Amino acid sequence: MRKLVPSALDPTQVFNEIASAKRLERGERLKIIALEIYNYYKTYSESISDLSAMNPIGLSGLEKEDLEDCYSGKTNPLNKLLADIRELQDLPIRNQCQYCGIASANTFDHYLPISIFPEFAVFSLNLLPCCDTCNKYKSNIFLVDGKRQIINLYYDNLLSERYLNVSISYKDDVPSAEYSLIQPIGISDNQFSLIQSHYTKLKLLERFRNRSPEVLSETQSSIKTHIKAKSNKRVIQFLLEEAQRLRDRFSNNHWKVVLHEGMANSYQFIEDCRLTK
Ligand SMILES: [Zn+2]
Repeated sequence: MRKLVPSALDPTQVFNEIASAKRLERGERLKIIALEIYNYYKTYSESISDLSAMNPIGLSGLEKEDLEDCYSGKTNPLNKLLADIRELQDLPIRNQCQYCGIASANTFDHYLPISIFPEFAVFSLNLLPCCDTCNKYKSNIFLVDGKRQIINLYYDNLLSERYLNVSISYKDDVPSAEYSLIQPIGISDNQFSLIQSHYTKLKLLERFRNRSPEVLSETQSSIKTHIKAKSNKRVIQFLLEEAQRLRDRFSNNHWKVVLHEGMANSYQFIEDCRLTK
């Protein structure tokens, strides 16, 4: 999970261009509420450090439909905005969903859900590239008991301290990985609770576990084929170097970083890598 870079395009100009691209009546109606929308953008930007305080205006009927259509009805100015957000991200993470770190970021999430906050349908700070699985699980989730449930990749401070843990176990000679979360020392309950809800709501621990057999088997095969290690030490060195390479690209709590360190700590896994010399 790495932080995302927000778009620098003027959001009021983007809204105005999208409204102008709409057919006559809808375009006219959008222009009538444009000033009001710009004020909500301002409130959003001012509340960015604590979006849990944001309240929906409660728009309904045509106004809600018009605003939702700004996102669902594709126009050139919207495509330009979405392309801008994608292209701003660092290459290693440009195509990877940072909510999970598993799949490609082939959709956009509305951080404040579009069905509750249609006023932010095309507001760049509210649009985060993510995969369709995360998008589906996140759905309309925003607050529970007044607390945000999903990490905001534009503005939350992402922890470098290790909180994701893995344990590799064997059943019928087949390795599998079980993930868990551990509160690091010095990290507040509030910070950790946001991490816990993010991982729970997006079903991340389960999704990491389901993806792990493929990584475990590929890594083992790669070590046997290319490293041809004669000693456990050489296998461990390879796994830790690989963990470091992934850490540099994706951050310390990426599921593959943790998994490679887990492999380096599993005596049976290392022994298995040495079987074919
Ligand atoms: Zn995802």
